[in-house]
Amino acid sequence: PIVLGIESSCDETGVALVRGTTLLGDALASSVDEHVRFGGVVPEVASRAHLEAIVPMLERACADAGLTLADVDAVAVTAGPGLAGALMVGVSAAKAVAWALDRPLYGVNHLCAHVCADVLDHGPLPEPTVALLVSGGHTDLLLVRDIATDVEALGRTIDDAAGEAFDKVARVLGVPYPGGPHLDRLATQGDSTAIRFPRGLTSGRDLERHRFDFSFSGLKTAVVRWVQERERAGLDVPVADVAASFAEAVADVLTRKAIDACRTHGITDLQIGGGVTANSQLRAMAEERCATAGINLRVPRVRLCTDNGAMVAALGAQVVARGLPPAGLGLGTDSSLPVSSVSVV
Ligand code: ATP
Ligand code: MG
Ligand code: FE
Repeated sequence: PIVLGIESSCDETGVALVRGTTLLGDALASSVDEHVRFGGVVPEVASRAHLEAIVPMLERACADAGLTLADVDAVAVTAGPGLAGALMVGVSAAKAVAWALDRPLYGVNHLCAHVCADVLDHGPLPEPTVALLVSGGHTDLLLVRDIATDVEALGRTIDDAAGEAFDKVARVLGVPYPGGPHLDRLATQGDSTAIRFPRGLTSGRDLERHRFDFSFSGLKTAVVRWVQERERAGLDVPVADVAASFAEAVADVLTRKAIDACRTHGITDLQIGGGVTANSQLRAMAEERCATAGINLRVPRVRLCTDNGAMVAALGAQVVARGLPPAGLGLGTDSSLPVSSVSVV
């Protein structure tokens, strides 16, 4: 079956068509430029941008696939988590398409969709697999026994998400929003061993109590304090070194805990997804450490790591393949949908 996927949980309007684990067509619009002057995503602005982009993206995705909406067998849409108003636009569009074509409608979890994006690049996920999801709003370590039905949270951030930390540190360094990609570019000019920033929840009692949890707010504060002290002393701030050392601290904790989760659960496959996975230092460190640990690492191409419609269609296809019940036109949105709810009815 051909599954249409619609994503609108934050500031990307994504529409794609997938058959099995094959991406047939893909279209993406982003309102990120409209949020730059506010230094973060403004929900009302995002919702309005989704409204303007959704129909053009539906058309573009079909054209990209060389298909029409009539070829679609099922419709999948992000039901949560995300911004309520933004989610509503995608869900309403999905309902309209499903109703007009008389096709089943599936509401899927945005976080599980990030994990599922990987099947489009590397085929079916080995199960069980450990998944590390690192994005602007989430940092979760997951145990995936079945991507369509059984996803368990092993740990999560107890304060800021990794992407949020990138965006906040960027602001301190005078780098424009969204900070992640800009900091990444800056860091390539810097020395990642120049400054030793703290690794949250990695020792002593913290580690015992929060073995698979993360904390990035202390790291952010440490970076702010380090920069302020330099400035107070009248010294130049080596921005590239700060960026590289900060990303090193983030990547170190993420990869260390993900590999520990694999070892603890006797799992030899690690999947990494979410927008922060675009980070070059995280990718390099994960590759190196997984190779050493004998863990098979799966990281999709960058375009499939940040928000997109393809991952939603991919998860929809898995849900359809399992013969799970569709949602019906009463499908609602849930801004704080837990990761264990892979699909909703
Ligand atoms: P969520 O999926 O949790 O709802 P989101 O929609 O903001 O959040 P994504 O689009 O998956 O998430 O990721 C966006 C985040 O990824 C931003 O915080 C951004 O700064 C970060 N990011 C993007 N590229 C990079 C990069 N190269 N290095 C570090 N961070 C990056
Ligand atoms: Mg985004
Ligand atoms: Fe996301």
